[in-house]
Formats: sequence, structure tokens, C-alpha cells
Amino acid sequence: MKYKLKELTIENFKVKTLAKNYDTPIYCYSFEKIKNNINKFKKVFLKINPLICFSVKSNSNSNLLREINKLGLGADVVSMGELMKALKSGINPNKIVFSGVGKTSEEIIFAVKKKILLINAESKSEILEIEKIAKKTNNKVNVGLRLNPNTDAGTLSQISTGKKENKFGVSEEIFIDLVEYLKNSKYLKLKCLSVHIGSQILNHKPYIKMLKVIEKIIKKTQFYFEYIDLGGGMGIDYENKKRKINLKKYALSVEKFKKRNNSKIIFEPGRSIVGDSGYLISKIIYIKEGYKKDFIILDAAMNDLMRPALYNAKHRIIPAKKNKTQSLKIYEFVGPICESTDKFSTVNKFQKLKEKDLIVICDVGAYGMSLSSNYNLRPKPIELLIKNSKIKIISKRQDLKELV
Ligand SMILES: *Cc1c(COP(=O)(O)O)cnc(C)c1O
Repeated sequence: MKYKLKELTIENFKVKTLAKNYDTPIYCYSFEKIKNNINKFKKVFLKINPLICFSVKSNSNSNLLREINKLGLGADVVSMGELMKALKSGINPNKIVFSGVGKTSEEIIFAVKKKILLINAESKSEILEIEKIAKKTNNKVNVGLRLNPNTDAGTLSQISTGKKENKFGVSEEIFIDLVEYLKNSKYLKLKCLSVHIGSQILNHKPYIKMLKVIEKIIKKTQFYFEYIDLGGGMGIDYENKKRKINLKKYALSVEKFKKRNNSKIIFEPGRSIVGDSGYLISKIIYIKEGYKKDFIILDAAMNDLMRPALYNAKHRIIPAKKNKTQSLKIYEFVGPICESTDKFSTVNKFQKLKEKDLIVICDVGAYGMSLSSNYNLRPKPIELLIKNSKIKIISKRQDLKELV
């Protein structure tokens, strides 16, 4: 993304041209960015040689999944739909892990049938259910057990998952009991200890703490885990403040951890792979004067990008064409939906905008389209992928007539 003669371009395509050719709102992704993110991730963890399972819930577009598969990643899925899509996109079942607190018997049966690498169970009841299914289908099923390490990830409370008050994983006591139980199971083979402490984590320290907790518990169980699945959660710089997680320090700790425990390492990154690869292009429908601020009413709304309404998340908004005039008023960027939370951002100093101008909401590649809905009966936007200087439609705009 770059300004060229004041015109914003994404991989050399003018935002203006994209809007003209495909109408707005548009989700537009850069293949280059995804590739770079994957390469950077691989590089920083090179010595660990981990299995990297892309978190499909962050972006489940089939086309992107196919590209991500080609770049060597597996998948972390949390539903039968995601599992089916991962398989359909060519991802090898032995590179797929299945997480989530509420897998139904139907979902477990499907996962067993497909012989995926691991079903990461999150409760005693789930273990018993998987065992029942394994017995009935006469399978020996590989499972992981998700530990709740009671570690504060230092992120938004809405996306913390590793504290004891969160629904995810099992406590240390239950974990140890379940390991004992699984040692004697005829139908389940315990292969993995998994954790995932939260999302948009910008500090390596919670991860280091988490590793310590894991290590302590492994010692207590006296059990050899072939895999340790460390989850995802690595944060990205949404606000362009150069705040970055120090992945090198994390990698160093994992290296030492791996040496001591001799397990294979799995990661489940989502956001850090696709987050900054996506742009949401939107047109200003109206500008409405308010008392101290002007409402910039966009044709994109919370149904297209839910993160601000759901988590109070901040996304940078930038103009598609730069000019030098500055607005004297505060701008509040909102969507047309009949909800007061349908707003993206309030900006103090923005260039002066006018109706029909285009803006771009940045870093929407993760939890953007995958969280979108048809609320207010709005059709879902088109998705474009720019790869090797070519534009590909990777998902059509939903047809309003069909929707209705
Ligand atoms: C959501 C999720 C992830 C991915 O988290 P990111 O913050 O996108 O990296 C990984 N593992 C599990 C179990 C998850 O639920």
C-alpha cells in the first residue's frame, strides 16, 4: 500500500480503479503480504521447525486457504465447516488440528473419519465422547488436551482465553487427572498438550510465563507429549505505532523448551499471517454535520467489519486520495446500520472529505470477512486477491436478490 502522486495504491493498483471496476465495499488482499508474513514467521522459528497450522477462523476464504496451503501451512479449525473447507482447499489431514470447547458428536465422527492429526479436547466430557466414538468406529484416535494455563495474555478482555475464568481448556488438576485416565485408554492416544492464551498479544512475556506453566505440568504428569501445541495469538500493529511483539525472544524460549522436552512444536497463528494483508475499500455515502463532529457515513458497516463494534478494536482509516486541506471538525466514521455501535473510528485530524470520496480501512485480513454477517439484510462484500500484478475475484459480492 503506497501513495503514488497522492493516489493510494494497493500492490500498484489504484484504489480508485478498484472501486470503479468492482463497486464498493471491497475486501482486497495482497498475496505478497501473506507470503512475506509466512516467510517471516518461518524464519523466526526456523530452529524449532514447527508445524504451522493457520487458524482458519481468522479468514476462511477457500482461495486464500489454497494459497496458504501451497506455502506449506496446515490448518487449525474450530468447526466441521472449517474442517471441510480446509480439506477442500487441499490441506493434508495430517496437518490439521481441531480445537474448540463444543465439538458435537457429528463433528468428532467426521474428524475421526478424516484421520486428522489431532483433536484437541477441552473437557473431560469431550474426551469421553471422543473415546466413545473411537470405540464404536474401532479407531485409535490421536488427541491433544488443552490446558488452561491461567496466564494473563495482557490483551483485550474480550479476546483473552488463557485465564482460569475463561471457558477454554482444563485446569491443571483436571489436566493431570485426564492424563492419568488417557494413559490407560484403549481407543485414545494422547499425543499433545495444547494451549492458546488469547489474541492480539503484543508482548512476549505472557508466552514465556505460559511456557513455564506448561513445563511444570509436564513434569508433574511424567508423560511424554509428542506434540506441544502453543496456539497462536501473535499481535499486529493496528495503530501504526511501531508496537511489535518480540518474536525472537519468544522463539529463543521455545527453542530451549523444545530441547528440554524433545517434543514437536505446533503453532496456530491467524492474525499475524493475514491481518495486515487485507484492506476494506469503502465509499462515503453522505456527510452529516453534527454539533462538534461530522459523521462520515460509509457504505461499509459493522456487518462487513465487526471488530470495532465487537471488541472496540481500532483500525486505521486512510483516504484513497490525499489532499492538503484539514477538516476543522472531528470525523466519526460510521456505517449505515441501525445500531449505535456501527462506527469504525473517531478521528481528530483528518483531511477534509467530501461525499463519494473513497477511504480505506486497514489491516482487515483477519477476523474481517470471517466475522461478517447479513445483518440489516446487507449482502456480503466482494473479495479480491492481488497476486503477481493480477487481480482475482476470490469471492463474489453476495447477490441481493438471492439473499432476499
Ligand atoms: C483463534 C485461535 C487461534 C488464532 O489466534 P490468532 O490471534 O489469530 O493468531 C489459534 N488457536 C486457537 C485455539 C484459536 O481459537
